[in-house]
Amino acid sequence: MRVEYAIIFSILCIILTVCTITAMQQRRSKAIGGAVAFFVCSLLPPVTGNLIIVCTQNRYVAEVGYYVYFLGMDVMVYSLLRLTFSYCRISWHNKTVKYIVYSLFAIDVLQYALNPYLRQAFDTEPLIVENETYYKLVPFTGQLYHRILDYGVFFFVLGVFFIKMIRSIRINRERYSVIFLSLVVGGVWETFYIFSGTPIDRSMIGFVVIGLLVYYFALFYRPMRLLDSMLANMTSELPEALYFFDNNGLCIWANRPGTELAAISEEDYSKAEVKLTELFGELDLEKNEWTSNKTLKTDEETRYYVIEKHAIPYSDKKDAGSFLSIRDNTEEHLTLQKEMHNATHDSLTDLYTKDYFLKKTEELLKSDNDTHYVAVYANVNNFKLINDIFGTAFGDHCLKVIADKIREIAPEGCVYGRMVGDTFGMCIPADSFDDAEIESALGHFKVSDGKVDHTVLIHIGIYFIPDKTIDVSLMFDRARMAVNTIKNDYQIFLSYYDEAMRNQVLWDQHISSQLSEAIEERQIVPYLQPIVNTDGKPVGAEALVRWIHPQLGFLSPAKFVPVFEKNGMIAEVDRYMWRSACEILAKWKEEGKDLFISINISPKDFYFMDVVSVIKNYTDKYGVDHSRLRIEITESVMIDDNRYRMKILNEFRESGFIVEIDDFGSGYSSLNMLKDMPVDIIKIDMGFLNQSQENDRAAKILHNIINMNSDLGIISLTEGVETVEQYRMLSDMGCRLFQGYHFAKPMPVEEFEGWVANSN
Ligand code: C2E
Ligand code: CA
Ligand code: CA
Repeated sequence: MRVEYAIIFSILCIILTVCTITAMQQRRSKAIGGAVAFFVCSLLPPVTGNLIIVCTQNRYVAEVGYYVYFLGMDVMVYSLLRLTFSYCRISWHNKTVKYIVYSLFAIDVLQYALNPYLRQAFDTEPLIVENETYYKLVPFTGQLYHRILDYGVFFFVLGVFFIKMIRSIRINRERYSVIFLSLVVGGVWETFYIFSGTPIDRSMIGFVVIGLLVYYFALFYRPMRLLDSMLANMTSELPEALYFFDNNGLCIWANRPGTELAAISEEDYSKAEVKLTELFGELDLEKNEWTSNKTLKTDEETRYYVIEKHAIPYSDKKDAGSFLSIRDNTEEHLTLQKEMHNATHDSLTDLYTKDYFLKKTEELLKSDNDTHYVAVYANVNNFKLINDIFGTAFGDHCLKVIADKIREIAPEGCVYGRMVGDTFGMCIPADSFDDAEIESALGHFKVSDGKVDHTVLIHIGIYFIPDKTIDVSLMFDRARMAVNTIKNDYQIFLSYYDEAMRNQVLWDQHISSQLSEAIEERQIVPYLQPIVNTDGKPVGAEALVRWIHPQLGFLSPAKFVPVFEKNGMIAEVDRYMWRSACEILAKWKEEGKDLFISINISPKDFYFMDVVSVIKNYTDKYGVDHSRLRIEITESVMIDDNRYRMKILNEFRESGFIVEIDDFGSGYSSLNMLKDMPVDIIKIDMGFLNQSQENDRAAKILHNIINMNSDLGIISLTEGVETVEQYRMLSDMGCRLFQGYHFAKPMPVEEFEGWVANSN
């Protein structure tokens, strides 16, 4: 028995020494390392003491063993206390208590020092076991003190571990409860030794085991369950549903969103696959590294998910398993959808924006070859007026109503959108296109916002798309051109684009781009058409513009004047003509020719310049008498801004110019206006005259106009006189001046000068 225990205690000593050294090395990385090393090391003296007691047959040596044992116990209990503080992260609240405890230990050491003399602590007596002599302990009062002290500290430590064990969370409990229980076992074992009266303290083995447990739990134990639980809690806080699969593809864990989404309980993770397939359809769980978007529709809502599958690598070649993440991105998806919608839809009408509409049309046209399509362009007539009169709120309301109408009539397979402002576009399959239906639905209708009632007129341009490869915006340009032909018509709402229209536009662009150059290069020239008196003698001429085009040849004003009147470039032409007329008059003045020139003023000129001062400028520059330059203004000029124009006419007359009303009787003339108009001459339109030949009534009216004019002191001039009969009839009626092919056609200036010389 002696030998066995000697060996056991020696092995324990070696183990403790190794643990002490490794714990010392841990010191640098772990604060607790020092306390552990001290505690493990403090187990060495009691074990060594017991080793001595077991080995010796000499009483004095045995007693030395006992001193080493008991003093070692003090050191051990003290270091256990220190370790407990460090392990359980507590500290002395009260310094006094700390010093009292230290003093109690000091007293114990002291009383063992006195024991050889006083024998107050213990004595030994021999005990024969299996023929071998051991020295067994005989305790006295001092030994009682020692035990009370050590047990006191021991129970305190036990208490601390107990409280820690109870209070800590489940996963931490392990590291406290293991030590608590081993302390209890060690304590009971030691107590058993005390009362057993045997000389060998077997409980030393227990204390070494405690030492090793502390050594392990304090220094090396990584609480895996704590880590697991921390990771699990953390991942459960994530918004994604996560499912972890082992190498065989079996679901072994899911976080909280995961169990909720798949509606599985924490215990049946293995059902995840089936449940997820029920939700999302077939998922390729065997494969790793994929992403897919899925939609879940319920009666109340639609939700969008991003599903990803990834491998979890273990080593270079092996995977530990894989995980599936399912993220609900409904919010993002909807915001994106909304942003997309806003970028492609008009905020007022919620129709496609122009760009998006054209893009959609292009896609539609490309989508199939067999269907023919029609481009429809709708423009609200006088929309500016609606805004000005009823306010923009009502204007907006009108646009919304129109958008609704378009939605209503749009046949299947049609795209439509808002172009700009008050214009809309549709691209309709030719089969389902019904112009009568569109015209009756959109042409004109009443819009009411509860306060205002207004009939909105919409002009609709139609372009049958013959070639789907041409630019889409060009198709709607053509439909728009068709609209432009119905301006200011109150019976017609719909018009078709034709090739002539396109050519007209191309022509307009072509000649407009060449005007400045033409003026510079004198391709634009004035022709003069003689004006004669009742004797048939020339008294003057009307300056009429001609364009001698280098490629196109002779261009009559009908070819370009209306174009330039539309785009405003007529002002440039007219200024040039006025200047030319002044040049000619200046030359004639020098040559002593007593002739006048009538110049034409377009109604558009008034928008672009101060007509009176521009003309005065030229007459001043060329020294032309104002009475020699006659001003021809069509009566339509007076329609727009009566008062202002009236003022202008007066200005001309006050400055000595003679003012003529051109094309009288061709359109708007009103007798009422005539009475107020400050004019000197009225040019009666040839069209009117032509009618009067065969129509007796018309002749009577003409006669009366001429009479009325002379009563008002206005001179009558008839233009377009083509026959001698007309000339005679008009002379008889009292007309004073004549112009027309009967006398001469418009001709170049030199030719005119020759013609005048001849007729004289
Ligand atoms: P308008 O001012 O009424 O010019 C008279 C037009 O009648 C001229 O046509 C002239 O050639 C034509 N004419 C003269 N006698 C007869 C006749 O006996 N029978 C017929 N059938 N026609 C006759 P033109 O030169 O082709 O000019 C057409 C229109 O172009 C002009 O009508 C005028 O409104 C405009 N225009 C011509 N030159 C100018 C210009 O320099 N400036 C502006 N703003 N307009 C001009
Ligand atoms: Ca004229
Ligand atoms: Ca005329």
